[in-house]
Amino acid sequence: MIIEHWIAGRATGGHSTRRAPVYQPATGEVQHEVLLAERSDIDAAVAAAEDAFREWSQSSLSARSKILFSFRELINANAPELAEIVSSEHGKVLSDAAGEVQRGLEVIEFACGIPQLLKGEFSGQASAGVDVFSFREPLGVVAGITPFNFPAMVPMWMHPIAIACGNTFILKPSERDPSSAGFVARLWQRAGLPDGVFNVVHGDKTAVDALIGHPGIAAVSFVGSTPIARHIHREASLAGKRVQALGGAKNHAVILPDADLDFAAEHLVASAFGSAGERCMAISAAVAVGPAADSLVSRVADLAKNIRVGPGDHPASEMGPVITAAARDRIKGLISAGERQGATVAADGRELSLPGYEGGFFLGATVLDAVTTDMDVYREEIFGPVLSVVRAADADEAITTINANPYGNGTALFTSSGAAARTFQRGVRVGMIGINVPIPVPMAYYSFGGWKDSLFGQSPIYGPDGVAFYTRAKVVTQRWPVTDTAAEASLHFPTAR
Ligand code: NAD
Repeated sequence: MIIEHWIAGRATGGHSTRRAPVYQPATGEVQHEVLLAERSDIDAAVAAAEDAFREWSQSSLSARSKILFSFRELINANAPELAEIVSSEHGKVLSDAAGEVQRGLEVIEFACGIPQLLKGEFSGQASAGVDVFSFREPLGVVAGITPFNFPAMVPMWMHPIAIACGNTFILKPSERDPSSAGFVARLWQRAGLPDGVFNVVHGDKTAVDALIGHPGIAAVSFVGSTPIARHIHREASLAGKRVQALGGAKNHAVILPDADLDFAAEHLVASAFGSAGERCMAISAAVAVGPAADSLVSRVADLAKNIRVGPGDHPASEMGPVITAAARDRIKGLISAGERQGATVAADGRELSLPGYEGGFFLGATVLDAVTTDMDVYREEIFGPVLSVVRAADADEAITTINANPYGNGTALFTSSGAAARTFQRGVRVGMIGINVPIPVPMAYYSFGGWKDSLFGQSPIYGPDGVAFYTRAKVVTQRWPVTDTAAEASLHFPTAR
């Protein structure tokens, strides 16, 4: 199948002639081809979104909220199919893909409350006879550029809120697992969203560069790796856009000697190897403090060796393949580099082979012990099923290690001490913190964002910060001299139109 763009409410090939393969990662076969947009396709999408903005930005809050509620119902009803699409192109197991859809749905539910979220402020009698009030307006056409690892959820961090705020939206999903974007576009249309409000253009750097420099685009939301996030933030800012750019991660979990080690080991393994480690909030470095280390490593290695690796659509599979053969080979290379540089391989997933799936991009769960912060395996974001154990003498050394790392997305602490938890949460320079919770992704009514090289620009994504990002405020200072007290009045009960 050829995967086309979605512009002005219909699928189109536009002017695209270049294509990229979309794999089934469990078999290694090419299952689809996706079109790669040219600059003229971006022009067409922006023109459609600009057209649609004129009416959509003026639609009532009540009308928008109704469409959001319908969209919520449709995503909910179609969640199993959406999860299947995600699993077949990404490789993650179905239950994990269903979890991704659920977390995206929660952002849609947050956006259903847009009338409440867009309430302004009012100060009566700020001066004698003068009132001051503020309200927020949409920006215009906004773009979302998203990574492969959450092809349904990460776009849903953006478009439900952007659209609820009155903007029109162009999504450029990852070219590696693009199909869920078109599926979601059709559900938006069925929910009653006017054509042109939500558009999808597929593509690579050509499409992205055309979007971030386009004079018709008001704002750019990006989620992906740090080098690209830095590039997008710089270039789109230079072009005068509002930008939020979320980058990569190296998330540490600290295990104190007073932690319940069985609990910590199970949660570490779940967070390191769920989705084959291809989560921006995956724990990739465990910092084992003092005497916790030896027994923790043996527990974690045993659990890792028993993870059932298999195709995403097999009910028994707990962990699927990684996204491409190139990713698999790169991860294998990093494990070997770690071993060469002095790490101990406590569980080795390099040689895993699944009968009947020899062409798939599989790797087993790998645990490296005695990792030091100068090793490649620690310095690079691996984005695969590898957990590096770093040993620290005490909690202060663990916090120092975390703070010396350039990333600051998420971190977790396993302990039974409230005092240690408090010191940790106040001491780490990281945006999202879990206490005995290894993947502390904030709920949809908070906002999501890391620190340091995990977020460029000021704005975290979704939640209240999402509403602020996709709107700008006007403040009105108003005086009505009292010459004529007549006012329009109506006896009927006011209702929104
Ligand atoms: P990526 O940076 O390779 O790609 C992200 C997007 O940028 C894709 O749409 C891609 O087409 C586009 N892109 C790629 N190269 C480009 C270039 N040279 N110029 C312009 N655009 C380009 O990321 P990925 O491999 O798809 O996703 C994994 C990365 O995303 C990891 O680093 C992970 O940590 C990160 N991530 C971060 C978060 C977060 O919230 N901070 C969430 C999910 C993923």
